[in-house]
Amino acid sequence: MIAVENIHKAFGANRVLRGVSFAVEAGEVVCLLGPSGSGKSTVLRCLNGLERADSGRVRVAGREMSDASLSAIRRSVSMVFQRFNLFPHRTVLQNVVEGPIHVLREDRTEAEARGRDLLARVGMADRADDYPARLSGGQQQRVGIARALAMRPDAILFDEPTSALDPERVGEVLQIMRSLAEEGMTLIVVTHEIAFAREVADRAIFMDGGTVVEQGAARAMLTDPQEDRTRLFLDRVL
Ligand code: ADP
Ligand code: MG
Repeated sequence: MIAVENIHKAFGANRVLRGVSFAVEAGEVVCLLGPSGSGKSTVLRCLNGLERADSGRVRVAGREMSDASLSAIRRSVSMVFQRFNLFPHRTVLQNVVEGPIHVLREDRTEAEARGRDLLARVGMADRADDYPARLSGGQQQRVGIARALAMRPDAILFDEPTSALDPERVGEVLQIMRSLAEEGMTLIVVTHEIAFAREVADRAIFMDGGTVVEQGAARAMLTDPQEDRTRLFLDRVL
């Protein structure tokens, strides 16, 4: 589903990605871990074309990343952000149907019916006509996930989806992600929730300083890492 081969990315003199490679199969859940500044968000942004790698290859759902394929790739991978990024002046339902109507050109009535189904799925059916500011962070993030699903993506990228939430709201969002995993959705999740990664992810990738230090089966790697840098990181976040 996703293949990243030796990508490099610099911002001026700051070499942020220094040869990153990994692959994700359809239906796999992969957690991307690493300290702040290690390049995790930049990797996700290169996967959906918000950033373009300086060199190396990115392939998503059978398409090679290029100027010509950019918009198709953006449509095929949805992103869920730490800060939700909902439109504040649109209702919950309007946030969910915006992409389907304006990007996928779906019929409004059908898009709204499906949007309500997706909101029901994340437990937000009764808040469809509220504005985001009236919702808790956890509720806003559940809407963010419904919005991502509304685009019928091949994969969903999560960038620290629970980091901005009150602790008592983290579980409700992780539970929805777990149900997506069980249904076979392809997920790449940047997270510091190690227990979640160990339990739900098939594989884990640990990055530091713009390189992949270690990757492997999630449970084994997060229980007994092979690299000292991975171990030090896990000792700090656990
Ligand atoms: P992480 O998500 O692991 O914390 P990021 O990918 O956000 O790491 O950032 C890695 C490095 O790239 C940081 O030093 C950050 O300041 C820098 N960086 C990220 N995006 C940009 C940008 N658009 N312009 C300049 N520097 C950036
Ligand atoms: Mg980040």
